[in-house]
Amino acid sequence: MSEYLLKNGLVVADDGVHESCDVAIADGTITAIGPGITSDGEEVDCRGTWIGPGFFDMHTHLREPGQEWKEDIESGSRAAAAGGYTGVVAMPNTAPAVDSGHLARYVADRGSEVGLVEVVPSGTITADRAGTRLSHLDELWAAGVRIFTDDGDSVADAGLLRRAMEYIAERGGVIVEHCIDAGLAAGGQVHEGPVSSLLGMPGVPREAEEIVIARDISLVRLTGVAYHVQHLSTAGAVALVAAAKEEGLPVTAEVTPHHLFFDHTAASLTNPVYKMMPPLRDPADVAAVRAGLRDGVIDIVATDHAPHADHEKDHPWEDAPFGVTGLEWAAAVVATVGELTPARFFDVLSRRSAEIAKVATQGHLTVGASANVVVFDPAGAAATDRTVSRSSNSPYLGHDLIGRVVHTIYRGEFTVRNGALRDMAALG
Ligand SMILES: [Zn+2]
Repeated sequence: MSEYLLKNGLVVADDGVHESCDVAIADGTITAIGPGITSDGEEVDCRGTWIGPGFFDMHTHLREPGQEWKEDIESGSRAAAAGGYTGVVAMPNTAPAVDSGHLARYVADRGSEVGLVEVVPSGTITADRAGTRLSHLDELWAAGVRIFTDDGDSVADAGLLRRAMEYIAERGGVIVEHCIDAGLAAGGQVHEGPVSSLLGMPGVPREAEEIVIARDISLVRLTGVAYHVQHLSTAGAVALVAAAKEEGLPVTAEVTPHHLFFDHTAASLTNPVYKMMPPLRDPADVAAVRAGLRDGVIDIVATDHAPHADHEKDHPWEDAPFGVTGLEWAAAVVATVGELTPARFFDVLSRRSAEIAKVATQGHLTVGASANVVVFDPAGAAATDRTVSRSSNSPYLGHDLIGRVVHTIYRGEFTVRNGALRDMAALG
């Protein structure tokens, strides 16, 4: 095992922010934090950077098992490490869907084998995400799953969702919901508004998202379950979450980097690299989600990294699938448009995400913690000329983003050093 001494960065530790501070790492663990540390470890100059807990993504599509031509656990782990992540939650809408214990174990074990980030499996709420009967929740729970979602679809049957919520509430997991009413969004291609009119495409009204959130908040009141809204995208959704929090309900929410960065005018370019669900919204919605992130109504940024191969995505807009990649640029987007303090920056990309996902091994920078660390240069230019994902359906390629992942350290070893992924062969 290696020994490193990260020197003279702005350290965003669990106990606060320390200027010109060092972090010592030995045998996979953080052994000291403070100014002027000396150790036998290799010194790494970190002047001008922020040193914080490795990023943790609540919402990653790794596509394995079953859709490995888009991405797999290895290629997705590489994209995550390149983006400064040391852990991701794998969404269960694979083929087959992760609706039973052995599939969840497979995802976690494969993640460990690859060894670049911690891959935390989530499980579906309903069997095969079909929305008709519950998954093997007991098996999933026994396999260590704490995050339950039918992501890609809302659970339309409120009675079924209530039963899942009661089960999960009793045990202490979290229900995570893709909030889009399938009927209201049916056929929708872009946000319903002037751009959809201009393009002559069916729109997805804000209400498709907001009525599901409103219904679910009622069910949270009924069941007391910890509940997390995925990819929130409208001003009304921000207001609903704010009201639920005001009431003291255990409701949390995420926003994606693309909903922070782009508005629906990007869709007028009709390049499907801007096509996702929920769609890019109105500039007023973008302003609302940015404000929500700043004031804490929105807890975290989660990528909804959704790889699709060129042969799928390179089609006329209507025929292309929903979804874009984002792991490699999420932190740069937050640094570019977030207007957050360093402490809040690491909250939204790491600490709070790990807390919501109930993953104790991530989101901490403190002596004795597993050394999952990112060194981030808030003034550096992000690399937007390439991707290490298997798929290249990224809306950020070619855009100017400020904020660069310098080093990613997972369990005490560099996965990214000076912006370059460590050689896979060298990782053994
Ligand atoms: Zn979704």
